[in-house]
Amino acid sequence: MIYNEEFETLPREALRALQFKRLERILQRVYHTVGFYKKSFERAGVSAESIRSLDDLKRLPFTTRQDLRNNYPFGLFAVPMSNIVRLHASTGTSGRSSVFGYTSRDIDIWTELAARSLVAAGLTKNDIIHNAFSYGLLPGGLGMHYGAEKIGASVIPMSDGNTKRQVMLLQDFGPTALCCTPSYALHLAETGNALGMDMKSLNLRVGLFGAELWSDNTRQAIETALDIKALNVFGLSEIMGPGIAAECLEGRRGMHIFEDHFLVETINPETGVVLPEGEEGELVLTSLTKEAFPLIRYRTGDISRLIPDPCRCGRTHIRMERVLKRSDDMLTIRGINIFPAQVEAILQDIDGAEPDYQLIIDKEGALDAVELKVEVGDKYFAEAGGVKELQAIEKRIIKDMKDYLSISPRVKLVAPQTLKDKDRKVIDKRTI
Ligand code: ZN
Repeated sequence: MIYNEEFETLPREALRALQFKRLERILQRVYHTVGFYKKSFERAGVSAESIRSLDDLKRLPFTTRQDLRNNYPFGLFAVPMSNIVRLHASTGTSGRSSVFGYTSRDIDIWTELAARSLVAAGLTKNDIIHNAFSYGLLPGGLGMHYGAEKIGASVIPMSDGNTKRQVMLLQDFGPTALCCTPSYALHLAETGNALGMDMKSLNLRVGLFGAELWSDNTRQAIETALDIKALNVFGLSEIMGPGIAAECLEGRRGMHIFEDHFLVETINPETGVVLPEGEEGELVLTSLTKEAFPLIRYRTGDISRLIPDPCRCGRTHIRMERVLKRSDDMLTIRGINIFPAQVEAILQDIDGAEPDYQLIIDKEGALDAVELKVEVGDKYFAEAGGVKELQAIEKRIIKDMKDYLSISPRVKLVAPQTLKDKDRKVIDKRTI
């Protein structure tokens, strides 16, 4: 099944022509409305008019996460706030977070792309969709929700958390589809099994999973634990929540990128040189239709490979392989993206905490568990009353990590110079 037959099966040549027309329009618009692009194009010696074909795209400068931060909060918006109907944001302290705006038309397009993703998974108005992506500043929950309503399915706006209740509703409401992070799907299965339920006999038949790096091993584990087909869906807060790309039931190898709305390139992350289709590299995305927050040649940090072979589902849009690694130090913990520099910035603001720390990430059951070891001054261990102060520091670290980054680490305070292998700020023991 195909949601938008006309656009999803457009012959490649017509698709390229449409992409170029949309590219021309968006370049004009960002050049004239966003000071950052005017400056960055001029610095690179290009103008919107000098881009005469899709091949010329590579002459345009990249946009990076640092550019987003430098323009916090609204510097990259291409429309006035009165045209914005929704704001989403990444986690982080002020200046280390990014804000993403959507106009009403942006929401409509996003909704359609989420609908395309759900239909590609075989879902219709007869389905009940249990949506356990997080509702809030992160875009997963609302994005999928709108898509599910668009296709006329019944959606359960569950969000994340309250796992026992979720398991109960999976049994009582009989949803046929599950949307969440892959690790949460496994966690639901484990929790249900521990409660004595037969998680293979639920009504679920398919799941759309994303917002984390996950492998085919995890796919098999989910399919076995819940007796469903597990599909991959791709989104990126900066560009658009879930719905940039999605796997189809027929192909199940790589996700179709909805190319009528996005231009995709892969580059060598070291040199920035564009790679031939099919070679592994960093994904670079250009939004072709975004009104509020268009990004030109945005370096996603995700490493993938494009699959140009035609797919038997009939969609003509190119596919991308699942993302298994990053070109930068971004970590995804329980579906939330964080950078070590954000942890550092939080610790810097806490009296008593030294800059030396280590983040140890592992799995506890299906879920990510984080331990944060932080060095504190010698005096706290020597002085009488030091214990109380240590407790206060620990509490503050836990609270700030939760408040700014939405993660809940176990915190362990240690004396100076006691962290082993100090240069390793992050020890990630997870296998995906
Ligand atoms: Zn396909």
